[in-house]
Amino acid sequence: KSSSKLSHNFTNNNEIHTSAARTSTLLSTSTGFQLNPINITSYRLASTNSTWNESSLPDKIKSLDEYKALYDLSINDPERFWKMAAERLDWYRFPTKIKNTEFDYRTDRGVDIKWYEDGILNVCYNCLDRHIDHDSSASKQVAVVFEPDTPTETRHHVTYGELLRDVKKFANVLKKHGVKKGDRVTVYMPMVVDACVALLACARIGAIHSVVFGGFSASNVAERISDCDSTVVITSDFGLRGGKCSPLKSKIDQALKMKQCSNVRTVLVFERNYGNNADVKDACSDQRGTLEWKEGRDFWAHKEMETVNENCPPEKMNAEDPLFILYTSGSTGKPKGIVHTTGGYLTYTSLTFKYIFDYNPGDVYMCTADIGWITGHSYIIYGPLSNRATTVVFEGVPTYPDVSRFWNVVDKHQVNIFYTAPTAIRSLMAHDDKYVTKTSRQSLRILGSVGEPINSEAWKWYHSVVGDSRCPIIDTWWQTETGGVMITPIANAWELEPSSATLPFFGIKTQLFDKSTKKPLTPPNTGELCIQDSWPGQARSLYRNHERFVDVYFKQYPGYYFTGDGCEIKKNGYHCITGRVDDVLVISGHNIGTAEVEAALNEHAGVSESAVVGYPDKKKNQGMYCFVVLKDDTKESEELRKDLIKSVRNTIGAHVNPDVIHFTPDLPKTRSGKIMRRILRKIVEPDTSNLGDISTLTDPSIVKELIKKSPRTK
Ligand code: ATP
Ligand code: MG
Repeated sequence: KSSSKLSHNFTNNNEIHTSAARTSTLLSTSTGFQLNPINITSYRLASTNSTWNESSLPDKIKSLDEYKALYDLSINDPERFWKMAAERLDWYRFPTKIKNTEFDYRTDRGVDIKWYEDGILNVCYNCLDRHIDHDSSASKQVAVVFEPDTPTETRHHVTYGELLRDVKKFANVLKKHGVKKGDRVTVYMPMVVDACVALLACARIGAIHSVVFGGFSASNVAERISDCDSTVVITSDFGLRGGKCSPLKSKIDQALKMKQCSNVRTVLVFERNYGNNADVKDACSDQRGTLEWKEGRDFWAHKEMETVNENCPPEKMNAEDPLFILYTSGSTGKPKGIVHTTGGYLTYTSLTFKYIFDYNPGDVYMCTADIGWITGHSYIIYGPLSNRATTVVFEGVPTYPDVSRFWNVVDKHQVNIFYTAPTAIRSLMAHDDKYVTKTSRQSLRILGSVGEPINSEAWKWYHSVVGDSRCPIIDTWWQTETGGVMITPIANAWELEPSSATLPFFGIKTQLFDKSTKKPLTPPNTGELCIQDSWPGQARSLYRNHERFVDVYFKQYPGYYFTGDGCEIKKNGYHCITGRVDDVLVISGHNIGTAEVEAALNEHAGVSESAVVGYPDKKKNQGMYCFVVLKDDTKESEELRKDLIKSVRNTIGAHVNPDVIHFTPDLPKTRSGKIMRRILRKIVEPDTSNLGDISTLTDPSIVKELIKKSPRTK
C-alpha cells in the first residue's frame, strides 16, 4: 500500500508514514509479524497516536490506515463516532444521549440496549422525502428498478417522487383501516415494488411490520401472525417465481381460517397484474377467477389508494420505537421474533451500505435477497434508500429462464454493485462457464456475498468468472439479530483473501472464546465468536420474550453477545467464519469444522455442493457423514467416493477421515437457500421420528429420499 492512498484526514504527517509502514507489515504474512487484532486499538494508539480529528465522517474509506484510525475512534469513543454517523440522517430532534447499553445479565439493570434514546426521527422520511427536500431533482431519480420474473414483461422504474406518492397514499389506506403507531402489520408479498411501498408506509405511520417470506406455507404464516398479534395483513393476489404462479392471497385465506388468526380484521391485497404486457403468458390465469374474497375483510390496495388523500405527514418516532419484527429463517429451531428499532437500525444500515459497497451517486445496486429476509430489509430497502441509491428489486430466480439470468439482468440494468448468496453462486457454478462469459458484465464494479461461509472454490469462481478478476468480493458476515453487516471488507480499502470476511466494521469488537473452557482466546486462534460491546444496529429483544433473548444471546459468555458462529482469526487479523458452532465435530480429540471439510469436498471437480454432519460413535466420539451433490456431468462411483475421501485427507490432514459419503441429487434447504443441518444430523444420528418442523424447507420430499438411502437408517 502506498502512502499516497492515505487520507488527508490524518493529523500528523509523520504518523501517516509510520502507520503506512505498519500497514505493509500487517498485510505481509511472510514476515511472520503477529498482530493481535483484538488489540488493533491499543497497538495503534501506542504506536502512532493518529486520531480522527474531523467533525464528520468521511464519504469513503480509502485505505486500511484510514479504517484503523476510525476504527480506533469507534471503539475508544463510540459516543463520538456514532454521533457523527447519526448526523448522516435527518432528525426532528437530534439525540443528546448517544449510547446507553448493558450486556451483562448479572447486573441490576440486566441486558438492555438503547441508542439515541431521546432522538426523534422517521425512517420513511429519511429514505424518501428528505432526498427531495434537500434537492428537488431527486424526485426524478430512479429509486427502484423492477425486474420481473419474466424478462420480457415491461419493466417499470419507479422514481423517488413516484415511490413517495404511493407510500403516502398507502400509508393513508393503512390509517383508514385503523392502523396506528405501534400496531403490528404482517406483510406477505412477492418481490415487487409494492412490497417496498408496504414496508415504507408502515414505517411512515409508525406501524411495526413483520414480513413473512412469500414462500412460507399457510401454517407458517399463521404462526407468525399470531405470535406478534397482527390485526392487518398486506399481501398480493399472486406472485411469480421461475415462471410459476404462487397464490399468496389464497395462502393467507387458509392461514386466516386457523384459530390462532381470529384477530385479523383486514387484508389489503395488491394486484400482480401485467399492465399491457400481452406477450407475457399469465401463469396465474387459471386461478384469477377463483380468488376467494371475504367482503368487509379483504380490500384491493389499488382501489383503496384511489380513495385517499395524497398527504400523509411522517409520524415522529422515538429512536427506540420498534421499526419491525422479523422471524429468523429457522435453520436452527423455532423461529424467533427479532425486534429492531428506529434510530440505531437506520444509522447502522445506512452507514454500512455506504462504506462497504462504496456506493457512489448514480450507481445501480442489486441485491438478490428476498424482502422476507433481513438482507432484503437492510440492503434492498433501508440501507440503499436512505443513501438515495438506485436499488433493483428482482422478482425471479437465478435459473429462469436459464442460468444466465443474473448476468443478463446485470447487463440490462447496467448494475454496478451486485450482492448475492453462496448458495446461488454454487448452483450457477455447476453449469458451464459460457452461461456467464457470453454476457458482458462490464458495468460490475463490486460483488458481495452473504448468508453462509463462501468456500474458496466458489469465491474464486465468483471473482474470476463473474467479476473477470476485476471486482473485489465483499464477503459480509452478519445475522438477522445484528441488523447490518458486522465483519466485512470495505470495497477497495484493503487486500482480500478467499473465504475471509476480513475485518470488523466500525464499532464492532470481536472476541473468541474456547468452547469447552469458556476462556477468552488470543488470536491467531479459532473459537466461538462473541461481540464485546453494543452497536446501534443490533436487535433489542425478541418480541414479547426478553428472557429468551437474554438466554440465547447473553448467557453463554456473561457480558458478551454470543453469535453462535465459530471463527478463525488469523495472524493478520483477518476473520474467517467457520460455520455455526453446533457444526463443529470432535473426532478422536480433534476439533473439525464441517465448513472446512465441505470446502475440501467442493473443491473436487465433480462436486457441486456438500454438507457434512456428525453422528455418535463409541470409539471416535463422532463419525463424519458427508452428503455430496455432484455436478450435472458427473456420475457417482466407488472410485469417486475414494477420490473424495483422499482429497479431504490431502486438503485438511490425514486425521480427517470421512466415514460415509452419501451421493444425493439435492440437500434440504431453508427457503433462504441455507442447508438445514439440524435435519441432516437427525437423519444420520439416526433419530428420524423426531425431525422437528420441516415445513419451512424448499422441498420437504428430499428428506424422505435421504432417509431411504442413508446406510445409518437401514
Ligand atoms: P436461525 O437463526 O433461525 O437458525 P439463520 O441463522 O440461518 O437462522 P440468518 O440470521 O439469516 O438466520 O443468518 C445468519 C447466519 O448465517 C450467521 O449466524 C452465519 O451462520 C451465517 N452467515 C451469514 N453470512 C455469512 C458469511 N458471510 N460467512 C459465513 N457465514 C455467514
Ligand atoms: Mg441464526
